[in-house]
Amino acid sequence: MLSSKLFLTTKEKLLDKSLLLNYPAPTIGNTNNIQLDSFLAPGDHIVNSRKDIVVVVDPGHGSGSENVGAVATKGYKHFVKGADNKPELGPDKNPKVVFTSVLELPSYVINDISKSKKEWITERVGDNGITEADLVLKVAQSVYGKLKAIGYTVFLTRNTATGISNQARSNAANLNKAIYFISIHADGDYDYRVTGAHAIYREGDDSDYNKRQHEFAEDIFSLYDKVATIVTPRKDIKPIRVLSPSENKAERKTLLELGFISNPDDYDNINNNVDTIARQIIQGIEINVRKHFFTQGVTIYGYYDHRSNSVVNPQEAERNALFSKPSFYTPIYENEELKAVVIP
Ligand SMILES: [Zn+2]
Repeated sequence: MLSSKLFLTTKEKLLDKSLLLNYPAPTIGNTNNIQLDSFLAPGDHIVNSRKDIVVVVDPGHGSGSENVGAVATKGYKHFVKGADNKPELGPDKNPKVVFTSVLELPSYVINDISKSKKEWITERVGDNGITEADLVLKVAQSVYGKLKAIGYTVFLTRNTATGISNQARSNAANLNKAIYFISIHADGDYDYRVTGAHAIYREGDDSDYNKRQHEFAEDIFSLYDKVATIVTPRKDIKPIRVLSPSENKAERKTLLELGFISNPDDYDNINNNVDTIARQIIQGIEINVRKHFFTQGVTIYGYYDHRSNSVVNPQEAERNALFSKPSFYTPIYENEELKAVVIP
């Protein structure tokens, strides 16, 4: 039964499913429109379907078996403080050296860490387990899979432990005409307590270029919350090759430092939240996508659920959707000019 009212509020339309009976069910896998990961609310604008959004995801390091990046801090080798506040001597009359895990360090060792000349510590011992190169590959693969599933054109510069040069990373952006280039890293420090995350950008000659880089670096970590201190965005001072305006022609590029792999808390928080972090990165990208690749005048109406062949509202879709199966839902758009509901 059609409603007698000429114009209905979005809420009324969502309740009046009879309005949709004249429209065919949308086809799964229709790629004319990108389905944003973050479910849109009624009234939100949709992605411009005419613009193909190419994203290159670059897991840092792994250019050779030696290039593993930062490693986790397992603990420190150090002298043992005796009753006289001097290093205890071993049977050979030399100062005794022991290894202590970061979780059990005595305070005199902790206080020694940030000093430039160490009094007690003889060596930092890194973890033999997962390296920065391994960890960022897991995050990058998750970002890649999720972006692909929701309709972006996406490339991964490295899908194995090793085998990519820095030049090849930029080539991947240039050959594929990347709109977005995201290099994913984690930091390392001698001091296991150092924490923090930031998105790095590099400026070029032209002010529009600079604005784009700064804005993207700011947007991409908008939702990231997996490490304690997030100072972002940060200007590149090194300078980092993959961010070079002359080498890498991607429109918008950033290098993410997810946290300090040398800090046990950061390490656990990243390693245990790979998929959540990937999703937060994607939603950060989409904050930028919404600013630059949305058309006006087309608004979200609801979602078509392919399992039940029915229309659900965005809140319901958000509640029900398993992120791994976004194809269960196709957004239904409302064209203001035609005053009609459009199923893509
Ligand atoms: Zn790195």
